[in-house]
Amino acid sequence: MVARQIIHVDMDAFYASVEQRDRPELKGKAVIVGGDAKSRGVVSAASYEARKFGVHSAMPMAQAVRLCPQGIVLPVRMGRYAEVSHVIQSIVEQYTPLVEPISLDEAFLDVTASTNLFGPAEQIGRRIKEQIREQTQLTASVGVAPNKFLAKLASDLKKPDGFVVVTEQSKQEILDPLPVGKIWGVGKVTEATLQSYGIRTIAQLRASTCEELQSIVGNAAEELLRLARGEDDRPVEPDRERKSLSSEQTFATDIRDESILMSVLLEEVEEVAERLRRHQIKARTITLKLRYGDFRTVTRSETLREATNLTKPLWETAGQVFRKWQARSGGALRLLGFGASGLEPEHAGQQLLFRDPDQEKLKRLDQIVDKIRDRYGRRAVHRGGSTPENPGTIT
Ligand SMILES: [Mg+2]
Repeated sequence: MVARQIIHVDMDAFYASVEQRDRPELKGKAVIVGGDAKSRGVVSAASYEARKFGVHSAMPMAQAVRLCPQGIVLPVRMGRYAEVSHVIQSIVEQYTPLVEPISLDEAFLDVTASTNLFGPAEQIGRRIKEQIREQTQLTASVGVAPNKFLAKLASDLKKPDGFVVVTEQSKQEILDPLPVGKIWGVGKVTEATLQSYGIRTIAQLRASTCEELQSIVGNAAEELLRLARGEDDRPVEPDRERKSLSSEQTFATDIRDESILMSVLLEEVEEVAERLRRHQIKARTITLKLRYGDFRTVTRSETLREATNLTKPLWETAGQVFRKWQARSGGALRLLGFGASGLEPEHAGQQLLFRDPDQEKLKRLDQIVDKIRDRYGRRAVHRGGSTPENPGTIT
């Protein structure tokens, strides 16, 4: 059996880099892209110049502005980033149809079969990086490895503008000295817990027995050990994007504050709804993905009475599901995601003889918001109030 060859492509500070490229006067400056501080906005991306001040994505904008008062705050221009993302997608698709997009700026590629045509995976990775630079004037960090976990780890090792190859032979040497926090899914809390047991590096993790680990992290023990050995057999799933659309944010620190979580969720719902409308599809089911600081991930789904791509019903349902989760368990989150599945074409199903005037009104509202955002960015229009009971007012 031929060993799998996986490439992970990850654009560097994507939204901020696109802004700096489009407006050269921003080059070398601290650029912070995200929602308005006054409406509890969150940082979507920060240029490397802003990161030096401790600014990072998913941080409340108010805090980012305090840390970096000279930062230039810009609204999210999702339409623009989607255009650039499209160019990157068509570059990687020249090498393999097995592309799993994770977000606008990140994708896994399985190039195992492509090596016959294009040469070794390393060469493919270098060509992709070069083509991205030529066609977009942006830098990507690229990781080449025998599996997804190692490829993602590799793309992150020399960021920005990184290129790292991890092989079966070199993987342990690369993994061992790294802190356990580098393992996929190990958040700050799990890392701190492991550290309190003297497990700081991946080498130390690998040296512990499964029983020892079980007493510390429970069910996650086996998977942690596998990852510590650099083993991961999840396939690249090219259909993911088509079966569902999702948006998720990983926080640098665990967040419990309800208003921040709700504002992150609203942003995700708006992004997914916008993408549904752009693709002219509707979704029947929504799913919240909630990852706690201690590695556990739960999902909560709800099926809507009818498929939709309108922001209001999606947000209302997402808000209800979130509230229900909070009332039953709640907790500090490491990651919050929103996904829409059960996709169908916009014009499928029975055509209503009489159009629902309320639905028509919401549809027109969404179209206007999409247009304004495409032109002027996210912050140009946002929905007032971050409660699902009051989701539709334009401020
Ligand atoms: Mg990136």
